[in-house]
Amino acid sequence: MAYSELKNWLAADKVLENEPLKNHTTFHIGGPADCLVLPATPDDVALTLRYSRDRNAPLFFFGLGSNLLVGDKGIRGITIKMGGRFTGWEIRKNVLEARAGTALNICAEAAARNALGGMEFAEGIPGSVAGAVFMNAGAYGREMKDVVEEAEAVDGDGNRKIYTKEEMDFSYRRSCFTASGDLILRVKIRLYNENPRMIRERMKELAQLRQNRQPLGYPSAGSVFRRPAGYFTGKLLEEMGLKGYRVGGAQVSEKHAGFIINTGGATAADVRKLIADIKAKVMEERGVELETEIKMAGEF
Ligand SMILES: Cc1cc2nc3c(=O)[nH]c(=O)nc-3n(C[C@H](O)[C@H](O)[C@H](O)COP(=O)(O)OP(=O)(O)OC[C@H]3O[C@@H](n4cnc5c(N)ncnc54)[C@H](O)[C@@H]3O)c2cc1C
Repeated sequence: MAYSELKNWLAADKVLENEPLKNHTTFHIGGPADCLVLPATPDDVALTLRYSRDRNAPLFFFGLGSNLLVGDKGIRGITIKMGGRFTGWEIRKNVLEARAGTALNICAEAAARNALGGMEFAEGIPGSVAGAVFMNAGAYGREMKDVVEEAEAVDGDGNRKIYTKEEMDFSYRRSCFTASGDLILRVKIRLYNENPRMIRERMKELAQLRQNRQPLGYPSAGSVFRRPAGYFTGKLLEEMGLKGYRVGGAQVSEKHAGFIINTGGATAADVRKLIADIKAKVMEERGVELETEIKMAGEF
């Protein structure tokens, strides 16, 4: 399929053909997207959705690619990245409203600067605010569910809808968007007045904890598995001696066994095989069924 028409509708630099997705994921893994769209406005998104619907082109969207494993053969059809171009935020009283691609770190920083507490937990989670809503991202006892008030999303036919917190149906690392398939455009977050010094101290403390516990020097997609009831995945895998276990360039982190790292040149197939091996070992030795938290997309 030629995407020249889409290039005419949007600015040409917003439509990249055969773009390697390894450049857009924190794993630094992933084959080419046939057509990667980098929208900057809701109109860009609407045009792209219409284009893909009218041509029956497959559609996938993501944010900052920090919870994503893209297959080595890439993604067919149209891929929308709700990332660096779709950013911006404003604060009114205690409410921070951010466009989908705004990084969580930026949201946490904006809240701190405006003496608003509640977003400290998001410090260091390398995703977009919309990706964080989709995943109900969280850390150190707090999650997006505790702060999100509403989100605006659009379906494949271009219909926009405001979701209330209740409608988003948050649970552990899940939201209604897994099932609805709608694309999130913006998010409203309710915060509270707080002493800026306290906010900074908490953020510093959490950043230090991450630094101490996570393999931040290597490409990864964070925790690979959902926490099974009654266990901590990292501890479980460590007890089983899986730290350092590898397939090709993919390795169970020596620092935090819940993370798989790309030690250099890992393929998506390496990571997928490593995940399958870990699941099989955990089932065999402990009778525990591990579920993958990271999302997989494209052809492997
Ligand atoms: C070093 C490291 C540390 C991490 N620490 C944490 C942590 O402490 N807690 C935690 O919860 N996670 C953590 N993560 C995982 C990740 O950062 C979060 O899940 C984050 O919220 C994902 O956001 P993203 O924009 O990168 O989403 P992506 O990876 O781009 O996408 C993830 C999913 O969200 C969907 N999505 C993205 N944008 C949209 C949109 N606009 N509309 C609809 N759907 C969308 C995608 O389709 C995909 O299914 C970590 C990751 C890394 C690499």
